[in-house]
Amino acid sequence: MERHRALNAFITVDPELSLNQARAADRMLKNGGSRPLTGIPIAHKDIFCTKGVLTTCGSKILSNFVPPYDATLIKRCYEEGMVTLGKTNMDEFAMGSSNETSYFGPVRNPWDQFRVPGGSSGGSAASVTARLCAAATGTDTGGSIRQPAALCGITGLKPTYGRVSRYGMVAFASSLDQGGVLTQSAEDAALLLNVIAGFDPLDSTSVEEPVPDYGSKLKDDIDGLKIGLPKQYFDEGLSPEVEVLIRDALRVLEDHGAVLIDIDLPNSELCVPCYYVIAPSEASSNLSRFDGVRYGYRSEDYEDLVDMYMRTRAEGFGDEVKRRIMIGTYALSAGYYDAYYLKAQKLRRLITHDFERAFELCDVIAGPTTPTAAFEIGAKTSDPISMYLNDIYTISVNLSGLPALSVPAGFAGDLPAGLQLIGPYFSESRLLNIGHRFQMDTEWHRRIPGGFE
Ligand code: GLN
Repeated sequence: MERHRALNAFITVDPELSLNQARAADRMLKNGGSRPLTGIPIAHKDIFCTKGVLTTCGSKILSNFVPPYDATLIKRCYEEGMVTLGKTNMDEFAMGSSNETSYFGPVRNPWDQFRVPGGSSGGSAASVTARLCAAATGTDTGGSIRQPAALCGITGLKPTYGRVSRYGMVAFASSLDQGGVLTQSAEDAALLLNVIAGFDPLDSTSVEEPVPDYGSKLKDDIDGLKIGLPKQYFDEGLSPEVEVLIRDALRVLEDHGAVLIDIDLPNSELCVPCYYVIAPSEASSNLSRFDGVRYGYRSEDYEDLVDMYMRTRAEGFGDEVKRRIMIGTYALSAGYYDAYYLKAQKLRRLITHDFERAFELCDVIAGPTTPTAAFEIGAKTSDPISMYLNDIYTISVNLSGLPALSVPAGFAGDLPAGLQLIGPYFSESRLLNIGHRFQMDTEWHRRIPGGFE
């Protein structure tokens, strides 16, 4: 129990809600009407609004916010009869790559408690890794599902933009945000995606595209599958230990008949600068709603309305969030808009075009999820640029709206690393199929850190 608590993976646990849902699940199982995941325990990232249950988004400014409604993703899990174990810790407003920006303190990596679990869905990743729950939800704006999944040795799926409703998900960068899942295996990810995917009239960017049964193609043959390896994903930024694991993992897929081909994503180096203009710009706009009037924290001590706004935001937001608001406000301001925001939008188009060209040559793209294994807590907090570079292989997927899966590829010493598979729009079934075939032949996803067995 102490070891579990030390992870700091949860912000809120609500035993009454969990027990009520467990009882309801028992009834569904007994009286008929149960569904495939009825009774399965799940944890939700604290970015999803839960009616009557605290939803903080990892921030002081929402530290007293109890939503009056459920996010669509939450509602779907409830209707399935899943049992909510709690709300997981996360980087403040999902801004981070290490789960160190949370107002509620850092989450620890179950493989080594002095290291980060990755962010921003770090609490979700840690709780699945430590087997506190069977699965967890997360959100991925620039890598926040795949990166913590990789650093914790679990499976993470970021679906195509628009596949999972964003209704009731606290907005960070609306054109990039996408809800998804963190699970032990690709098979589990498929089952959970079946529950949360689908059109939602309450989200105007939700796509009206039929939802296949993601579990039905898991065992399909991958003989002849063309896997593209971007040369930019294997350059000097990649740590040699991680590279060895990725090359070994690719050999497993080759043994199944997959064919590896070299490809080029020439604009890869523009992804991080492009993202770190667009994401903060959208964030600065989205976060303007937190003003101490409508909901959340309000400063206790102020002179007039403007002073109240200023103190509420100064006291309510942490440093990383303030940094993003300042960058975003600057990039969007008259006179700088064309030079930064508009330029970044043009780069975004080029980055997407790279993928379109690549998918003419290959079926999926593979590479590392992160350049290194988990780093020590505190190692990068004073250097935002080195922190941002953790996202180098994940960000382009969000800029283009593509789906991507991270599966555990092996261990560098005691620390896991992830193999990332990127596919064309709505290719989730294919990605999960490849992940599952890989997991049929490997044991990495079954490994549990010492003390959590
Ligand atoms: N690490 C990236 C950031 O800090 C991505 C975060 C995310 O995907 N939510 O913005």
